[in-house]
Amino acid sequence: TFVPARRVSDISISPSTAAAQKARDLRNAGKDIVDMTVGEPDFDTPETVKAAGIAAIKAGETKYTPVNGTPALRDAVMHDFKRRLGLNFKSSQICVGGGGKQILFLALMASVEAGSEVIIPAPYWVSYPDMVIANGGKPVVVKCAEEDGFKLNPATLEAAITPATRWLVLNSPSNPTGAAYTEAELVALGEVLSRHPQVWVLCDEIYDQIWYTSGSAQTISAVVPAIADRTLIVNGVSKSYAMTGWRIGYAAGPQPLIDAINKLQSQMSSCPSSISQAAAAEALTGPQDFVTDSVAVYRERADLAVARLNAIPELSCLAPDGAFYLYPCCAGAIGKTTPSGQVLKSDLDFVIYLLEEVGVASIHGTAYGMSPYFRLSIATSTEVIEEACNRIEKACSQLK
Ligand code: PLP
Repeated sequence: TFVPARRVSDISISPSTAAAQKARDLRNAGKDIVDMTVGEPDFDTPETVKAAGIAAIKAGETKYTPVNGTPALRDAVMHDFKRRLGLNFKSSQICVGGGGKQILFLALMASVEAGSEVIIPAPYWVSYPDMVIANGGKPVVVKCAEEDGFKLNPATLEAAITPATRWLVLNSPSNPTGAAYTEAELVALGEVLSRHPQVWVLCDEIYDQIWYTSGSAQTISAVVPAIADRTLIVNGVSKSYAMTGWRIGYAAGPQPLIDAINKLQSQMSSCPSSISQAAAAEALTGPQDFVTDSVAVYRERADLAVARLNAIPELSCLAPDGAFYLYPCCAGAIGKTTPSGQVLKSDLDFVIYLLEEVGVASIHGTAYGMSPYFRLSIATSTEVIEEACNRIEKACSQLK
């Protein structure tokens, strides 16, 4: 029989993937399910982007590219970081991989040793702790209270840092909460980090264009230039341009780290798809109205859903700054009894109750390291969101 390596047995399959699969299975079994687990845009990839992919195929751009990505895509990324964040990178300081996820994994693989600590603010994206463990490191989860907007505060950061700390992960706007750091908050974190030169900052900004509040998303190296030489900014086209299946992500940062990531990629995948790279370059350099239009739609949905959820006595929900998720608190439902006589003891009990009683699929907060909450995706139509809210309201009203 096959016995997996430690690095595999120590990690688990992403709970969001598992929840989405459960929703699909129930639907295939004929159940009427409203699926709020989806972690990708419900929009199609823009036509201009698809056309660039097709043109690349026809032009014979169907071979290996440089390990670190095509010059055209790296230039597009470089200009995007300059235009939106005011950051100047050389083309050689950009690396391209098969999704932001692969780049994050490679960055950890390139830097984490046995015993290296990686500070992960909770609620966190489910993949960070397992990515750290798979690379032999130690996730150090620090809870960030709803009262702090689910964000890391300087004192908590200071207390979590040890001589073994290798990275701080900053995911802004966040999956699952939609919370984003303001300039002042980044300055305060930067102040702590400037005293601890061993700590690098892994900025996952994959949702930074899906932005609802005033101004635009901020990045720590633009606000605190003194730590730019130990900051990696990870982004990609999956979420902003509805390109999850094309699998293109990228990062910009200090040359030695980028070189290490490229070295690993050269032995792992050689390069991401040439066709997808051509499409991603078009996404970044072509018309940007898809981003503007889709964000306006997400914003309307977020406003609608937040208002509906906050009208349910058992729930409360912070308005997100960006991304396309909501992370409502379900403390008001915990301890109550369902019509079948079950006492809800946890957010997992609550999401199972929603699934079984009213057919709403969502993900329990424990999976994101913070309870009692649950995650709802709003990357689905207004009608589906209305229906989900009606059903959640009904399920909550039946609790005693
Ligand atoms: N980071 C966060 C916070 C995410 O939610 C995701 C996708 O769900 C990713 C990174 C990776 O996206 P991709 O690999 O499609 O670029």
